[in-house]
Amino acid sequence: MDYDTYGSSAIELAIELANVERTEPEWARAFLSAHDEWFTPGTSFELSPGETHRAATTAELVRAVALAEAQDDVLARLNELLALARPRPYATDHDGELHLHFARPDAPALEQLTTTVAMGLSQVVVQHGWQRLGVCSAEGCDDVYVDTSRNASRRYCSNTCASRSTVAAYRARRKEEDPVPPNPR
Ligand SMILES: [Zn+2]
Ligand SMILES: [Zn+2]
Repeated sequence: MDYDTYGSSAIELAIELANVERTEPEWARAFLSAHDEWFTPGTSFELSPGETHRAATTAELVRAVALAEAQDDVLARLNELLALARPRPYATDHDGELHLHFARPDAPALEQLTTTVAMGLSQVVVQHGWQRLGVCSAEGCDDVYVDTSRNASRRYCSNTCASRSTVAAYRARRKEEDPVPPNPR
């Protein structure tokens, strides 16, 4: 799979948005600042409470697409997300490579975010299949991921969760095979 193009790599922004903690009231502004390479230089990251709420809706929809287990559900949720997007493609070489952006460069931050996320996610789902999206199998983690492995074998959101689960499974096996002997009397 080729994730080198803007459209495909934009799914990484979608996944990170879906997984970001939203406990702080300023979470969206912090998220935008941490991902400023996706936005036109000079874009204001000051969001109104209403805009922050809409960013959360976008995050929830990305998550809903990743959690969907049937194509009908994927379509419904994806189209709900796409309805929030305002695509107005333009070509740019701001990083030295000629490529397309999905949102108009002077759009407000929320519009750039929602459009980039919706288009990036849709492009990968359409080209590579919705089965490429999943939720982490590690205990206590419900982060979503996109599976870019060649054989589509990914089960965890991160290497941290993968190795944590391997250790836990190993311990569980040891316990089964090797029960603690009862206390001798
Ligand atoms: Zn770019
Ligand atoms: Zn995880």
